[in-house]
Amino acid sequence: MEIKNHILSGSNVKKMVPSPNHSGEFAKGNLDTVIMHYTAGPYRTSLKTLTNPRVRASAHIIIDRDGTITQLVPFNLISWHAGKSFYKGRTGFNKYSIGIEMVNSGYLTKSGNIYRAWYGEAFNPSEVVEAIHRNHSRPKFWHVYTPDQIDAAYELVQALIDEYGIKHILGHEEIAPKRKTDPGPAFPLDRFRERLLGTHRDEDGEEELPNHGRIIASSLNIRSTPNSGAPKVAKPLVKGKKVTILDEHNGWYKVSVPVVGWVYGKFVDIT
Ligand SMILES: [Zn+2]
Repeated sequence: MEIKNHILSGSNVKKMVPSPNHSGEFAKGNLDTVIMHYTAGPYRTSLKTLTNPRVRASAHIIIDRDGTITQLVPFNLISWHAGKSFYKGRTGFNKYSIGIEMVNSGYLTKSGNIYRAWYGEAFNPSEVVEAIHRNHSRPKFWHVYTPDQIDAAYELVQALIDEYGIKHILGHEEIAPKRKTDPGPAFPLDRFRERLLGTHRDEDGEEELPNHGRIIASSLNIRSTPNSGAPKVAKPLVKGKKVTILDEHNGWYKVSVPVVGWVYGKFVDIT
């Protein structure tokens, strides 16, 4: 697989199908993330949707069940896949990321011995895995990804890392946890990013925390626990203040300034 002038080529890469759904170029230095998605539908309907100018959605890439890849938007342009999104101090992930859609039907409903997608397609048990989503507490049935698809995703993201210095690989479910469940537990997201980025994890399987951050709100309360109703432990932190990050919980950071307390992570820039 090769990237030239922001266009992918290779033996398993199909002819580009340009989508009109994109904005201008990424601001210099902004592109450092890949977001993984599932289409929640078959290749053909997903391609139609993501190239339809009336549907204000797109992605850079679709990976079909057989591992073939179709590019919709050049990698230097902003595609519209993330929507309202937030993760570790950043919002609006379209402007930082390349969006990769994998053809997969998402979660399925069991009836008798068959499993149905929301749009009616039926799958047999060999195409289904029962698993607990990282944002849920109970198991559901999920459409499996094919080995060809996962191999293609590895190869593609490695090419993107080499070409653009990608530093983060995230699931849509991680940047929009209330709205989104893709790529879901059938995709080996943690292993995927660990193998591609060598992300260090502690024994709980948590991603290692950034060491430092900077306050980006004009004034930010620092509290005794990660809760907006908790008592304040010091005067509010001012914009630009550097903090050492000690822990993370539900989008809050435990920081040392050197007074130790919790601040809302959305207002801490960790880049
Ligand atoms: Zn998505």
